[in-house]
Amino acid sequence: MAQDYKNSSRAAAALIFWMAALSVLLIRTAQLQIVEGAKYQNYARQNRVRKVAIPAARGLIFSRDSVIIAESKPAFNLVLVAVRDWGPAVITAARILGLDSSSVKQEIIFQRRAYPKDPVSIARNLAPEQVALIEEHADKLPGLRLATESRRQAPFGSYASHLIGYTSELNPREYERLKEQGYRLGDFLGKGGLEKKYEDLLRGSDGCEFVEVDAKGREQGNIPDLERLEPVPGVNLYLTIDWKLQQMAESLFTDGMQGAAVAVDPRTGQVLALVSSPNYNPDLFSTGISSDNWNRLAGDPSFPLWDRAIRSVYPPGSTFKVFTAAAALDSGLINEKQLLPKSCHGSMRIGNRVFKCWKPSGHGSLNLHEAIGQSCDVYFYQLGQMLGVQGISDLCLKVGLGSETGIDLPQEVPGLVPTVGWYEKRLGRGSWGGGVPANLSIGQGELLVTPLQMAVMYGAIGNNGALFQPHLFLRAEDYTGELLEKEQLKSHQLGISLNTLAIIKEALAGVVNQPGGTGGSARIYGVEVAGKTGTSQNPHGDDHSWFVAFAPKNDPVISVAVVVENAGHGSAVAAPLAGKLIRQYLAQQGITKDDNQKVAAAP
Ligand SMILES: [Zn+2]
Repeated sequence: MAQDYKNSSRAAAALIFWMAALSVLLIRTAQLQIVEGAKYQNYARQNRVRKVAIPAARGLIFSRDSVIIAESKPAFNLVLVAVRDWGPAVITAARILGLDSSSVKQEIIFQRRAYPKDPVSIARNLAPEQVALIEEHADKLPGLRLATESRRQAPFGSYASHLIGYTSELNPREYERLKEQGYRLGDFLGKGGLEKKYEDLLRGSDGCEFVEVDAKGREQGNIPDLERLEPVPGVNLYLTIDWKLQQMAESLFTDGMQGAAVAVDPRTGQVLALVSSPNYNPDLFSTGISSDNWNRLAGDPSFPLWDRAIRSVYPPGSTFKVFTAAAALDSGLINEKQLLPKSCHGSMRIGNRVFKCWKPSGHGSLNLHEAIGQSCDVYFYQLGQMLGVQGISDLCLKVGLGSETGIDLPQEVPGLVPTVGWYEKRLGRGSWGGGVPANLSIGQGELLVTPLQMAVMYGAIGNNGALFQPHLFLRAEDYTGELLEKEQLKSHQLGISLNTLAIIKEALAGVVNQPGGTGGSARIYGVEVAGKTGTSQNPHGDDHSWFVAFAPKNDPVISVAVVVENAGHGSAVAAPLAGKLIRQYLAQQGITKDDNQKVAAAP
């Protein structure tokens, strides 16, 4: 493919650029007089040798379609290596670079108090003309040297920022923890997302060389009879992310919309897109975040640093009704044809409380298929009464709600499945009544899930009960392109009977494809999409809008969950967005003929 070629040649160009940048530093020294004949001990005895690290280039991160989504660029730093008598050289360097020499000196004194012998970076990320000036005045700068480092760059800015994560300079506490593993002061460290999760693979291993210095600490050239250790670039990671789909999913969140969108291949657990909105630009961290920028990001009330897809928990609202239904069907309390004792007149009294259906005029008598299709709350309140808290929580815990999915990202949260014990501890023994299971039955109350959990759960329903652990790691290659490691698929069964799953799948297809279904805006011509809307109440503001779906119904290749915070009805907001995602992916896979965004007409 042309795209592949373009990207692999871009990767090769990045590597060549990197190696060229390293050799720039050696040109001056190589031209100087070559010292002959002596061994390291000789040099060391005379204090004439300096061991200099050659930093490894950080591994690249690619999407599954071979687009580079995190790259490494060499950057130049000016580093103080002399331990004593550095004052005059530092003042000269500060003048050359236009820095305030007294604050530079203060910073050095501060660092040296903690680490008396370690090099100190006095200026980072120098511009090419600054590098040239330092080269030109090298004679006046004994004890200072130019060093390169591998600096992260996000070619697509803030896209996929939550899953990629960011790197930034390690702080003194991290340095103390990691110095045994070869980290030096000033090194970059993956601190969020995949950069953190796969730090050990991505960082590579630094090389070193030995440079002769004169009595004043000026570098005279590298020492040829002391072996140079070449750096080994970090491992290149290929992700399961489909970049076209990821970009599309990012673009769904317009006009300051907050929320998350997750797309997974239910046959493997490969995550195809994972978006949290708003996002942030990881380059802010890799260039050394200013306190202004940090305060702006950390204090932003929309929490752009927070990965809503795996760290935010929401009441699932009506998207949860399939689990209530599964519990009732599997325990034999109902069958799919049965009408429940109470028909829906818009509300139902439980104890001394009235629980409303979303439709004030009521739905009348419904069977399970119709109740899911029209999302009748009164139907599910009755299932809640039959199942009780334990019947609902047992099913939730069995399928894996209330636990992390195990995705290869740091900081995933488990959500919450409240059990009888949980309520007794919180509310006191026997002091809660029928309202609790009624709320749970429609995905309200204390039950909390992440968008990722819902995408994975619905995928497993579509996949006849086989739940594949979601993951982003597709494969790892070394810098020559040799395969080092491949994804390992892990799966388990939901523990819901095939018969029940078949009934639920039909009902979910009805939600999208039958007249009166609440998910009509996710309909796609020629393919059966199966999904469920949700409008979840929350104590912090307007309702959250949910849609969770998989397609095609009988052999799903994608499952998605979309949450838009405080946006109102799932049918109006989240469902059309999820529909766009599914439509594009099915077209990319050749399952539908075109990727036009028009919604198929109602039958
Ligand atoms: Zn109803």
